Amino acid sequence: MQKFPALIANYMKNFKCTGSACEDTCCSGGWTIPVDKVSYERYQKDDEIKRNVVRDTAKVTGQYAYMKLSEDKLSCSMLSEDKLCTIQARLGEGALCKTCYIYPRNYNYVNKNLEISATLSCPEIARLALLQKDGIDFDYFEEYPLLREVQVQNSVETYSHDNELKYLWDLRSFSIGLLQNRAYSLKERLILLGMFFESVNKEIEAQNYAAIGQFIDRYTELLDHGLLKNEIDSIKPNIAAQIQVLTQLTEIGVKYITPGNDRYRECVIEFIDGLVHPDHAGDKSILDTYEDAYNHYYVPFMKQHEYILENYLVDLVFKNVFPITDGKSSIFDEYVKLICHYAIIKFLLIGISAHDKGLQIDKVIKVIQSFSKSIGHNKSHVSSIIAKIKEEKNNNLYYMTCLVNH
Ligand code: SF4
Repeated sequence: MQKFPALIANYMKNFKCTGSACEDTCCSGGWTIPVDKVSYERYQKDDEIKRNVVRDTAKVTGQYAYMKLSEDKLSCSMLSEDKLCTIQARLGEGALCKTCYIYPRNYNYVNKNLEISATLSCPEIARLALLQKDGIDFDYFEEYPLLREVQVQNSVETYSHDNELKYLWDLRSFSIGLLQNRAYSLKERLILLGMFFESVNKEIEAQNYAAIGQFIDRYTELLDHGLLKNEIDSIKPNIAAQIQVLTQLTEIGVKYITPGNDRYRECVIEFIDGLVHPDHAGDKSILDTYEDAYNHYYVPFMKQHEYILENYLVDLVFKNVFPITDGKSSIFDEYVKLICHYAIIKFLLIGISAHDKGLQIDKVIKVIQSFSKSIGHNKSHVSSIIAKIKEEKNNNLYYMTCLVNH
């Protein structure tokens, strides 16, 4: 067993897989399930399991082997009728391959600290993470034991760099602090974050990296004294532009609904029905239906439960090591991604509230969980959204503000 200094999202401490009671098992999603070499060799000793694991000679998964899927290609072939894992039942939890053992956990390695969070595509994680009224917190452990080797999504060391990477930790802490600053509405926090990232991005383009720390200090002071409130209040909403951009992004999302993600399909159907079906929208225009649903259902719900979306954003920042880039994009592009995730969820919720004539916590969790399953497990989905935003030249603060401002 190895021990690591670790920073852990606090919702992890109460996580326990709900097994057959899960409303959306992770063993079913139409995705491939890679199997590592050690597990593959272990499975060769059990005749039934052996028949269901295939050596990946064609390099489909990039791993040593993969699990066979059921006939309809939607579930793992080892998922029993009562939605339990046959491998675990026959050989114990320790026999699970790395992929299944790790899910839904997410590991990053940042400046020699292990960072542990989890994907919201697991409904139980979504409930634990999103329903914390006081916000997500992080616990530090000097020696956190890891029973098995894990797969790390991002491994980053920042201190030895002399570019923006050197300030990654400060930028991330500032972002989480601002997203959790309830002196401002969530909409205001997101606009302020955009103003901040637009300014910092300009300094990075000018290779003036030392200014990043100064901007963090300056914005912290401005926020503490509410000195940017007037600037935000003067921004006029543009709902028609909001609907136009978000319709395009949601259409892209529809193309990425996998056959195994029925829950997301149900959400999208309710959303479309809510905004355009005569049973729900009558003969009103989409714009009027959208505005009605926003004012009558979305706003009253969010007055009580805005912490759900705050937690969603904070979790994304922590899990994705925001605003780390792939080297080709800028930190402002990472802000654009964050806004797109938030705005699509908000858009769906408004349409669904028109369909349901209100919003309930369970439905909000379902939307975020199934959206996370669609976007979090398919990198092309995010890339297509960003490509569309860039193609339409919408990757700027004006359009990002349009998407969140109402
Ligand atoms: S999605 Fe989460 S709760 Fe459901 S079976 Fe998988 S790990 Fe368990």
